[in-house]
Amino acid sequence: MADYQVPLRDMNFLLYDVFKADQLWQSLPTLAERVDKETAEAILQECAKIAEQEIAPLSRNGDEVGVNFDNGKVTTAPGYKQAFDTYVEGGWTALGGEPAFGGMGMPKMLTAFHEEMLCSADISFSLYPGLTAGAGLSLAKHGSDELKERYLTRMYTGEWSATMCLTEAHAGTDLGMIRTKAIPQDDNSYLVTGTKIFITAGEHDLTDNIVHLVLAKLPDAPAGPRGISLFLVPKFHVNEDESLGDRNQVSCGSIEHKMGIHASATCVMNFDGAKGYLVGELNKGLACMFTMMNFERIGVGIQGIGAAVRSYQNALEYAKDRTQSRSLSGVQSPDKEADSLMVHGDVRRMLLNMKAMNEGSRALSTYIAMQLDIATYGDGEAQQKAEQLVALMTPIAKAFFTDLGFESAVAGQQVLGGHGYVREWGQEQLVRDTRIAQIYEGTNGVQAMDLLARKVAGSKGQLVKVFVEEVQQYIAKNTSEQMTEFLQPLAKATTELAQLSQDILTLAQDNPEELGCAANDYLHVFGYTAMAFVWAKMAEVSFMQDQASEFHQSKLHTARYFYARILPRCQSLIASATAGSDAMFDMPEDLF
Ligand SMILES: Cc1cc2nc3c(=O)[nH]c(=O)nc-3n(C[C@H](O)[C@H](O)[C@H](O)COP(=O)(O)OP(=O)(O)OC[C@H]3O[C@@H](n4cnc5c(N)ncnc54)[C@H](O)[C@@H]3O)c2cc1C
Repeated sequence: MADYQVPLRDMNFLLYDVFKADQLWQSLPTLAERVDKETAEAILQECAKIAEQEIAPLSRNGDEVGVNFDNGKVTTAPGYKQAFDTYVEGGWTALGGEPAFGGMGMPKMLTAFHEEMLCSADISFSLYPGLTAGAGLSLAKHGSDELKERYLTRMYTGEWSATMCLTEAHAGTDLGMIRTKAIPQDDNSYLVTGTKIFITAGEHDLTDNIVHLVLAKLPDAPAGPRGISLFLVPKFHVNEDESLGDRNQVSCGSIEHKMGIHASATCVMNFDGAKGYLVGELNKGLACMFTMMNFERIGVGIQGIGAAVRSYQNALEYAKDRTQSRSLSGVQSPDKEADSLMVHGDVRRMLLNMKAMNEGSRALSTYIAMQLDIATYGDGEAQQKAEQLVALMTPIAKAFFTDLGFESAVAGQQVLGGHGYVREWGQEQLVRDTRIAQIYEGTNGVQAMDLLARKVAGSKGQLVKVFVEEVQQYIAKNTSEQMTEFLQPLAKATTELAQLSQDILTLAQDNPEELGCAANDYLHVFGYTAMAFVWAKMAEVSFMQDQASEFHQSKLHTARYFYARILPRCQSLIASATAGSDAMFDMPEDLF
């Protein structure tokens, strides 16, 4: 596998040239106190070092050795503990945390790049701090000060890690069916009993304690999702003097053997009357968990980008080096037995698909992260609009980036031919590792329904309007002649998205099944249109820069490729999304 090289140039281009992050931070008083361009550059540079030098080298061995389960104990792959300690010493576990409890409070625009670097280096490794950061967010927002003092502070120092315990054998997507019970005790604590499956980082040897955030129901709770509460259940009790006490009644029953992310422990967790503490209000657990899940969903979307970037770097190095056949337009390298793979149109198609989708995804993820920062730290109308955009774009970030990420991982494998299928070059690991991102944190099918049924239909199309107006205002403001090649098709795609939204809502008035049948295609039309928006922004800035720069020339070529060869995918998706549900529901189940 090619050595991982963090695309710092592109990250800085997005932050400062395209999205003017430094100006945004200065305009938001809380962020102005915490971060400026100089600090942010130093953070990304240091993070790049640890990702390239400490974490990326672990990935191959982690995949081969995996995690070991022995009588309830889980041991991570060789080198993991040492790399995790280095990561903790660098203070990275505090990066996005709440400053009042020891976090650094860095903006999402920055932490999103930190996440991408970790995922490109090794998705398995990224999950241990990733889940802790997500749980930290939920605890910071909904936990009592006592819980925060006791647990959150030590999650930020990296002494302890955290998990998210939702799934049960019979309840995955439909969490309203969970059976884990919480019985109230006289001392305000609860005894939690039940079995959770598929729990990432449920047990391991990286930290002294593990803080489980567990969904459970009180015996008299209302049925379904309205009866779910959230509890903090530590692996070890914590004494009054903050030292670790006895083991709580929670244990790992087994670990899963799975397709990819072998170095991430996926655990069956048994809670046998384990002492837990309520987080947030009773029966509002799902809402509290959603704070974490929204964060995690964008993070999982970034997993797709991370793997895709690695796949591109690997495939590109290989394609430049490998010689096979001659170019259709005649011999290009007469001194060699054959021309390089780079001369073949089909190889260029795969590489440019990857490059256009990867850089487009990174740009769109930066745009969404910017909206999250404005939603968190801004005020007034701008803050409200940002909140709406975040609600709309979160399922797109999760599902679209991971679908494209998997497509890129497979395309990279294809560039290597048979060498992409065997172990040697590491491409097959990327395909296996990135596949899960389409499944966990709510499957991509469920994300598509969240977008179309909850966000679009639920707001009667209002949220789509917010996005459409944002793009239309951008187009109206941009009068530069040379941008016409991008702005015309962008305007057309945006109008088509608005029309598609309206058409589906109209169809669904007579038949609600239309939503389920159109959702996946709709999410992708939305994703490609949003990506066209950020590619136009990148092209605009590249036109303004010194065009002799290879970086900006490459941006313009890739923007043109995106508009010529990828955006047209919307046409077939729109046809399919509006074809009606009969083709799916006319067929009786017996005929399947
Ligand atoms: C490696 C790994 C790590 C995981 N980590 C965690 C973790 O840390 N914590 C945790 O709690 N869970 C975790 N999970 C669980 C994961 O989030 C679930 O597997 C996932 O949410 C789907 O649930 P399910 O597997 O029960 O599938 P189901 O819910 O049974 O879904 C099966 C299929 O039906 C579709 N479907 C279901 N309902 C609907 C609907 N209403 N509309 C349309 N389609 C629908 C789904 O899209 C899917 O295609 C992990 C899973 C794996 C494999």
